[in-house]
Amino acid sequence: MRLPRFISKISPGFEVIDLKEWISKGFIEIYLKNKEESPRLCSKCGDQLNSAKVGEHKVKVRTLDIHKFKTYLILKRQKHHCPTCKKTRSEALSFISSESPHVTEEYAWWLGRLCEIAPVSRAAKFTGNDPMTMWRFDFKRMRRLFQHYKIPKVTRISVDEVYARKQKYYRKESRDKRFFTIVSDLNSGRVVWVSESRSKEALDEFFHVIGEERCKDIEVVAADQFDGYKKSVEVNCPNATFVWDRFHIMQTFEKYVNDDRAWLSHHLCQGEIKRLTRGKFKQLFLKKAERRSKVENRHIGDVLKDNQHFAYLELIKEGMFQIYQSKDEFEARE
Ligand SMILES: [Zn+2]
Repeated sequence: MRLPRFISKISPGFEVIDLKEWISKGFIEIYLKNKEESPRLCSKCGDQLNSAKVGEHKVKVRTLDIHKFKTYLILKRQKHHCPTCKKTRSEALSFISSESPHVTEEYAWWLGRLCEIAPVSRAAKFTGNDPMTMWRFDFKRMRRLFQHYKIPKVTRISVDEVYARKQKYYRKESRDKRFFTIVSDLNSGRVVWVSESRSKEALDEFFHVIGEERCKDIEVVAADQFDGYKKSVEVNCPNATFVWDRFHIMQTFEKYVNDDRAWLSHHLCQGEIKRLTRGKFKQLFLKKAERRSKVENRHIGDVLKDNQHFAYLELIKEGMFQIYQSKDEFEARE
């Protein structure tokens, strides 16, 4: 087939010798031939290889798709003896990705970009690549980004932990080690730092990175009831107010409201009212009054009418919601 100039010059140093379109199977193959005779470089150490060829093997390298067709470059990669490694090595090819010999550098870069907007597993499925390989491209991309990362100026931060993995890396590893500590900026809502484990040291690391001067700018730190974070803030941020974050307070609060409801239902209620205050109805007692539907409101009304303990419980719960409601209104006005 006579090839147009733009295809025949597709990769510098290589000549396109053939092009096959497998339209019904959905892929295109471009056959390349290395024009350069010598010197060839070692793919491991980068030094010059001996000129005598030891062997060669055919490689199939995925590159950027053409239309909807998967596109592969097919060429023979030569093997030579490397005097530095003292071994037979494959030649270095500049367009092949350092993460995987089966994809080109440019294709790997776009796969990495895809992982910015989609989970790695989905990106792998969408493009028909192995998830582990995809993970490596993504990791490389993130490392590249991290080199230039600067923590933005922060004044109000929240600290939270996420459970990272179930498996232990070694037998006596503590549970704390299996968490990540996440620092986010409350003004922008963005994650600004992540460190390993759930401990005072993990948060210290963040304060250490931003330095003493910038620690003085921090006004508020919101975190859960975990002691280590509080200690770290006390040591590192002289001007900060430490507060418990709303989510964790409400979580604890709801747990106790629920415990009380269960106790009241079990000990003080009989017959129909007992049925109405347990089982599938238990969530109703935790719900904010204005979020309940008409039917749910009638249900709660029936219970409160005959039972003052539940009325108290309802009042306490609504009072708690009101503390945060006034804060929401305050922010809306701001
Ligand atoms: Zn070498």
